[in-house]
Amino acid sequence: MLEHYGITAKFVTDRGISHEIVRHRLASFAQESTRYCNYIKDKFGNEISVIKPQELVKGSFEYIVWKKQCEQAEKAYFKLIDNGVSPETARSVLPTSLKTTIVMTANVREWRHFLNLRAIGTTGKPHPDMQALAINLLNQFKSKIPILFDDIK
Ligand SMILES: Cc1cc2nc3c(=O)[nH]c(=O)nc-3n(C[C@H](O)[C@H](O)[C@H](O)COP(=O)(O)OP(=O)(O)OC[C@H]3O[C@@H](n4cnc5c(N)ncnc54)[C@H](O)[C@@H]3O)c2cc1C
Repeated sequence: MLEHYGITAKFVTDRGISHEIVRHRLASFAQESTRYCNYIKDKFGNEISVIKPQELVKGSFEYIVWKKQCEQAEKAYFKLIDNGVSPETARSVLPTSLKTTIVMTANVREWRHFLNLRAIGTTGKPHPDMQALAINLLNQFKSKIPILFDDIK
């Protein structure tokens, strides 16, 4: 079962965290493409979407600094597109906080490894946003298939 039972999970997170997720070589992935998504289009609400890092408190000075920088990046992205630059090139000014959707499929052995590293932190302290996602997922796995995940603490 550890080898042959596959599980697929969908994460909504930022590009920084998705870079960490795709380092897990025994999983396969499908991710929203910044080459083909054009955030100026109506279906994206004519804006970019960003994920607030959980360490930044809404309304704080640091939060305002972060938000302003994201808004600047959005302006630069739209200016490039308006001037005929393709989304795949204009994306170079988008922030690491850009929202992304990533779907990950792996067998149970690989998910257990992923959760040990990213939720429990067996090899070092995970990024807080990565850890929050992984703990949430671990809790869902524990409630759905406790026999395979209950020992991960
Ligand atoms: C807290 C933390 C901090 C990190 N910091 C950094 C950093 O500063 N810089 C950085 O570059 N990365 C960093 N990483 C990422 C890390 O280096 C690994 O890329 C990541 O953990 C996934 O690799 P893995 O081998 O653990 O697991 P997976 O890629 O999920 O593979 C699972 C296991 O399968 C086996 N395996 C996979 N591929 C092969 C293969 N080709 N041959 C033989 N066996 C294989 C290994 O036993 C491996 O442990 C960090 C990770 C964590 C959790």
